[in-house]
Amino acid sequence: MIDETELRNLAHFQAEAPILSIYLDVDPTRHTSEEYLILLRHLLKQAEGQAAPEDILAVQRYFEHEYNWSGRGVAVFSCAAADFWRVYILPIPVASGVMVARRPYISPLAALLDTYERYAVAMVHREGVRVVLFHLGEPVYEEVFEGEEVKKLKRGRGSSAGAERRGGAPSGSRHMEEVAMRNLRQAARVVEHFWRQHTPRRLILAGAEPTVSQFRDLLPKALQEIVVGTISGGPGDNGHTLRERSLHILRQVEAEREAATVEAVVTAAAKGKGGVLGLDGTLSAAHEGRIRTLVILRGFHAPGYRCQSCGYLTAVEMDRCPFCGGVVAEISDAAEAVVTRVVEDGGEIEVVDHHPALERVGIGALLRY
Ligand SMILES: [Zn+2]
Repeated sequence: MIDETELRNLAHFQAEAPILSIYLDVDPTRHTSEEYLILLRHLLKQAEGQAAPEDILAVQRYFEHEYNWSGRGVAVFSCAAADFWRVYILPIPVASGVMVARRPYISPLAALLDTYERYAVAMVHREGVRVVLFHLGEPVYEEVFEGEEVKKLKRGRGSSAGAERRGGAPSGSRHMEEVAMRNLRQAARVVEHFWRQHTPRRLILAGAEPTVSQFRDLLPKALQEIVVGTISGGPGDNGHTLRERSLHILRQVEAEREAATVEAVVTAAAKGKGGVLGLDGTLSAAHEGRIRTLVILRGFHAPGYRCQSCGYLTAVEMDRCPFCGGVVAEISDAAEAVVTRVVEDGGEIEVVDHHPALERVGIGALLRY
C-alpha cells in the first residue's frame, strides 16, 4: 500500500521518456467493472500520441487480465522505456484521469495521503473506549479500554440511602455519574497515550451525547485540536457504518483544504504577490518555473499557443516566440499543457470540483517566489 515513503520515491522518479499515469475510480457501489473498462479505454485513447504504445498496452492488459477489482481506486504508472511500473490499489475512490509527463503524476495520491493516511476513530461510551487507527480507510491497529461497570447501587446500603434523604440527585444515579466520569477520565488517558504512540493526524469521536462532549473536554488541548468531527452512534453500530461515516467526515476535511488553497490563490493574486489567477498569468508563471501549486477546476480546458522550440505557453495568439524566436503553434488544450509542465517542474496540482472564484477563471496558481 502507498505511504509517505513510497510517495517520496515516486516524486523523485524522472525519466527521459514519457511516463503514463492513470487513475481509475473503480468504486463497485457506483458502476460495474465493464463500465470502468470502457472509461479506461477512453482515458487511454486520450494518451495516444503522447504515451508510448507499449505503456498504453501494459495498462490495458493489467486492467483486463490481472487486476482483481479490489479496492475503490487504482493508480498505475508505466514507463516501459525506463523499466518503470507501479500499481497502487486504493481503498478510497479517486477521480479518474490520465497524464503523460516525464514525471509520475502524483498529486492525487499526495492529496489522498494528506487526508486519509493516519487517522483514528475513538468510540466512546460510559464504560470505556475503543480506539482504532486507520490507514487509508483500513483499520490497522486498535486498543480497547474497559472501565468499571456503570450500574445502580443496590438499595438499602447505608451511605446511598442517607445521601438520597439529604436531597439532590438520587444517590443511585449520582454514583453512576461518578463511575462514568472516572471511566471517561481513564479513557481520555488511554486515547492520549495511543495518540502519542501512533501519531494519528486526525481524530474522529463516535458515541452518544453528552458522553462524547464530556470525553472531548477531558482530552488535552493539542489532542482536541486534531478532532475533525464526531459521529453520533451507539455500540450497536458495526465497523462498516463507522468506517463510512468517518470517510464522509474526511471528505469534508479534504474539501475544506481544497477551498483554503483556492482562497490563498485568490488573496495572493489580489495582492499581486505570490499568486496568479487566469490562464494567461498562469502560463507566464509556468514558463518562469515559478508555480508551487497549480489550482485548476476539474474539466477546465482552454485552447492556447505553444512555442515549438522552447515550449513557451501563451493564451495570446502570436507567430514567433518572444523568448527564442521559435515558431508558435496553436494547441487544443493549454490547460493540460500547463499541468504537464508543472508536474515536470515538481509542483503540486490541486484539482478543484467547485469554487465560485475559480469557476470564473478556471485556473490559477500559488507561486514559489
Ligand atoms: Zn520559444
